Amino acid sequence: MTKYKLEYIWLDGHTPTPNLRGKTQIKEFDKFPTLEQLPLWGFDGSSTMQAEGHSSDCVLKPVALYPDGARHNGVLVMCEVMMPDGKTPHPSNKRATVLDDPGAWFGFEQEYFFYKDGRPLGFPPSGYPAPQGPYYTGVGYKNVGAVARELVEKHLDLCLAAGINHEGINAEVAKGQWEFQIFGKGSKTAADQMWMARYLMMRLCEKYEVDIEWHCKPLGDTDWNGSGMHCNFSTEYMRSVGGKDYFEALMRQFEKNLEAHIAVYGPDNDKRLTGKHETAPWNKFSYGIADRGASVRVPHSFINNGYKGYLEDRRPNSMGDPYQIASQILTTIAEVPTAKKAAA
Ligand code: ADP
Ligand code: MN
Ligand code: MN
Ligand code: MN
Repeated sequence: MTKYKLEYIWLDGHTPTPNLRGKTQIKEFDKFPTLEQLPLWGFDGSSTMQAEGHSSDCVLKPVALYPDGARHNGVLVMCEVMMPDGKTPHPSNKRATVLDDPGAWFGFEQEYFFYKDGRPLGFPPSGYPAPQGPYYTGVGYKNVGAVARELVEKHLDLCLAAGINHEGINAEVAKGQWEFQIFGKGSKTAADQMWMARYLMMRLCEKYEVDIEWHCKPLGDTDWNGSGMHCNFSTEYMRSVGGKDYFEALMRQFEKNLEAHIAVYGPDNDKRLTGKHETAPWNKFSYGIADRGASVRVPHSFINNGYKGYLEDRRPNSMGDPYQIASQILTTIAEVPTAKKAAA
């Protein structure tokens, strides 16, 4: 038997977006455990904005697990928060609202800033570094500094060790700003992995005295870019049937549901989706082929394949909850009749 360090990780009740929480328990297994072998566990919900003091027990239900490359015999356990009965999802549990669709694929592009001493990593103690231009996909100390690349490389290795489908990295437009992408098949896979990747990044940065700034516009109304989390999505129907009529009906439904989408696309998005810095204004829905100034970008490949494939919603921001984003996109898609549904 081996003693495994199980890190149970969950989302707290903070609004508008939750924070990551985690605690460890040690359990013996003869080999790396399966999901079914992991027990429910509890925590004090009164300290995480999930319960009142007098009746504060909440339940952690394991829903996905990953090897923890930073710990000997470590397991990262993604959990849903349940009511004391262990069966009813807690109101803060947004994962439970995501429609089950094994044919749904999501790719999230997470942008973020490294922060140290209250400013982006590489910013001088006062004032600003040279204006934006050389930083995006840049190389060299004056563009990316000394520590950032080490962090993103270590983070990549931790994600790969965990079996997270990390797809790539780039330095972003602002100094100290970076991106990584995660892709997953199944309606919850990419969102589970994104939360776990965020956890790994925050934990990794602790010993460098660096924080991650997830806010979408940390430098305010300046000429420094904000951070997004573009959401690329497709369903089985979009990939295999699609068509111009279906696409246009889908876009009409996205337009109709604008407010419901913006409500879960991350806080303060009006400060980022201004119409400047490759964004579309938050209160006006638009789409366009290869258009990075539209709400939804339609890749060339989508048109070339006869309106089949994936679309990119560019509005979700860096602080958005991927569960709520995926949930809203699948809800809107489900409201649009497909040829099969219309014929039935
Ligand atoms: P860009 O920066 O040009 O918008 P990225 O390469 O950063 O593009 O991100 C594109 C994302 O689209 C990747 O995460 C990728 O996995 C995802 N993607 C590709 N094909 C599909 C698909 N069929 N369904 C959903 N997402 C997809
Ligand atoms: Mn990208
Ligand atoms: Mn980007
Ligand atoms: Mn993108």
